[in-house]
Amino acid sequence: MTTNWFRAVINRLFWLLLGCLLVGLITGEFAWALVAGLAIYLAWTLRQMLRFHHWLRNSPNEPPPEARGIWGEIFDTLYHMQRRDSRRRLRLQMVIDRIQTSTAALRDAVVMIDGDGHLEWWNHAAERLLGLRAPDDSGQHVTNLIRDPRFVAYFDEGTFRDPLDIPSPIDPGSWLQYTVTRYGRGDRLMVVRDITRLHNLEQMRKDFVANVSHELRTPLTVIVGYLETMLDAEDQGNPRWRRPLQQMQQQARRMQTLLNDLLLLARLETSNNALDEQPVQIDSLLETIHRDARALSGERGHQITLDVVAPRALRGNESELRSAFSNLVFNAVKYTPDRGEIAIQWWEDERGGHLAVRDNGVGIAPEHIGRLTERFYRVDSSRSTHTGGTGLGLAIVKHVLLRHQGKLQVSSTPGKGSTFTCHFPAERLIEAGPGLPAGH
Ligand code: ADP
Repeated sequence: MTTNWFRAVINRLFWLLLGCLLVGLITGEFAWALVAGLAIYLAWTLRQMLRFHHWLRNSPNEPPPEARGIWGEIFDTLYHMQRRDSRRRLRLQMVIDRIQTSTAALRDAVVMIDGDGHLEWWNHAAERLLGLRAPDDSGQHVTNLIRDPRFVAYFDEGTFRDPLDIPSPIDPGSWLQYTVTRYGRGDRLMVVRDITRLHNLEQMRKDFVANVSHELRTPLTVIVGYLETMLDAEDQGNPRWRRPLQQMQQQARRMQTLLNDLLLLARLETSNNALDEQPVQIDSLLETIHRDARALSGERGHQITLDVVAPRALRGNESELRSAFSNLVFNAVKYTPDRGEIAIQWWEDERGGHLAVRDNGVGIAPEHIGRLTERFYRVDSSRSTHTGGTGLGLAIVKHVLLRHQGKLQVSSTPGKGSTFTCHFPAERLIEAGPGLPAGH
């Protein structure tokens, strides 16, 4: 039942005034009776106010003092509000405690970073993995504590599309993966995982492939050498062996190309293999590739055009760039029918240097385009085997471009042709002065 407190107060005042009137009637002193009545009421109100104040200041969590009327109601309402609030606070604290204990138990480091890049909070694993110290490091800029230039560049770039894998700042033997997510108003949540085991496994896989390829090279060279000798001396041998020998030689050569590609990929993938840079003259480099492409086309009679406007040189590794560019051009020759057209074009603008290799060959269906740079990915394996491809060409192109901060763009229409474009950043273009090494 809810009480109408306004009416109750008016009622109380009415009875007080009536009392005063009665006393006035008896004593004949109306004014004094009224003054005395109001004074008593004021004293009572003041007393309740003082009790209220005392309770609020000293023991608001205890039940409030007994009071009647509107003051009792005020005490009770406030007391209930307080109890509800403290229950809510307790529940919230429990949730926070649970989150903190679970993040503390996490093996991954969790770091909260504010909009300006300063550290706000981190869990125990962050102290173990990144060497953060509480409370000294709180409020420090994250790049003051993780100083690896790769991390600084990753953090400053701010897109955080892919995770970053780099060695740990406190133990160079272990590898960490950083993933940053934006939330709230420009705040960032950084999760750091120890990926040493994964990294070592990956390294073992790469080393294994590189070692096997290396070990197979010598026996294969011997086999190819003997096959050549046997074919050269065919007039002395059995003519029935000619065709099998030719096929053996062809397959052995394919194997040699495959091994060379595998070794090249392994070298490109080794992260501590720094790029050996020099200014590369694009025009002469492309002229040699153009010549080789014409030789490869031979009697198939492709029309291969070269259009180079390269006032500047490209800062990079010439032999890696040669591998990447020739893979693109030779693919165009391989996957374009006889007498097809192939255009090689280099141009420079304010965004950087660009190489486009355009053909009007078989083209590629859209569902394959995203996967072309995967190792051994082939759109049509029978055709690739026929053209002698290893399936590693575009993987090599991707890695070479990655090492030069470049990007590969592929556009193609099945049956009409394809365009493979490499984009290099403007920082890689340098004024080509006299005395630069030739492009070949
Ligand atoms: P491969 O050694 O088999 O040519 P690549 O990695 O160089 O391997 O190319 C992967 C696949 O992409 C090829 O098998 C081929 O199907 C397709 N491809 C590459 N370049 C072209 C092109 N210019 N036109 C059509 N398809 C192409």
